[in-house]
Amino acid sequence: MPNIVVLIKQVPDTWSERKLTDGDYTLDREAADAVLDEINERAVEEALLIKEAQGGEVTVLSAGPDRATDAIRKALSMGADKAVHVNDPALHGSDAVQTAWTLAGALGQIEGVELIIAGNEATDGRIGAIPAIIAEYLGIPQLTHLRKLTVDGDKVTGERETDEGVFTLEAGLPAIVSVNEKINEPRFPSFKGIMAAKKKEVQTLTLADIGIDPETVGVANAGTTVTSSTPKPPRTAGERATDEGEGGNQIAQYLVSQKII
Ligand SMILES: Cc1cc2nc3c(=O)[nH]c(=O)nc-3n(C[C@H](O)[C@H](O)[C@H](O)COP(=O)(O)OP(=O)(O)OC[C@H]3O[C@@H](n4cnc5c(N)ncnc54)[C@H](O)[C@@H]3O)c2cc1C
Repeated sequence: MPNIVVLIKQVPDTWSERKLTDGDYTLDREAADAVLDEINERAVEEALLIKEAQGGEVTVLSAGPDRATDAIRKALSMGADKAVHVNDPALHGSDAVQTAWTLAGALGQIEGVELIIAGNEATDGRIGAIPAIIAEYLGIPQLTHLRKLTVDGDKVTGERETDEGVFTLEAGLPAIVSVNEKINEPRFPSFKGIMAAKKKEVQTLTLADIGIDPETVGVANAGTTVTSSTPKPPRTAGERATDEGEGGNQIAQYLVSQKII
């Protein structure tokens, strides 16, 4: 009956325009609609499947500003039992190492954590390293980029799919895993779930609560800094091939001219 913590991040909706702030190039969170990252919906789903089969408790943990409560409520409405929200203005612009350090500190405040489930890569920062850095800080095994996950007693097994093939990995609990988009199809919150989520416990922690010095986090103290950014050029209309018997050839010629084939 594992106690599972799912790491969830609120990200700008991929369908809305995403912008970086002038000056420090941190994400302009107000410029875009914010959603629970889809890969984290899958991470929550996996935790719920394990809980439904084996019992235990599912806690979601997020580091983010006030607005991240919307993402937390979504995870709770899917069926997670409770939430921990690390919310401190000093975290603004933290890099991956600082974020992982903060999350590791918060994990230390949650009792009896046996399994931590994260997404393999967030859709905004796309660092893809938070689970591995947390594993280092906590000194626990990491099974990353899993497409399949099984918990059996005090053991976790998973399938990692790479260009070289599929690797079956195994570790003892406690451990941290990250999942990819093949792991499952996340459920939609039910009306009952949405209503129940309103009453679930959300514990808010500041950096002081988890014993982290604010001088070690945030954009001013980050080890990596974004020094410039260039917006993507707007999409062009593209080239249209009208098929009057030669459409296939025209497309092939176009692909050759672009060195695609
Ligand atoms: C445009 C942009 C560029 C950035 N560039 C850099 C950079 O170059 N270097 C750098 O160090 N940082 C960068 N960051 C900051 C980075 O987003 C944060 O440090 C972030 O929390 C960690 O990176 P990630 O989300 O890409 O993590 P990933 O490692 O891709 O995330 C994997 C998983 O970790 C968990 N997770 C990640 N963040 C949180 C969180 N806050 N709360 C709970 N769970 C979480 C989720 O389960 C997520 O699916 C950038 C951010 C943005 C928006």
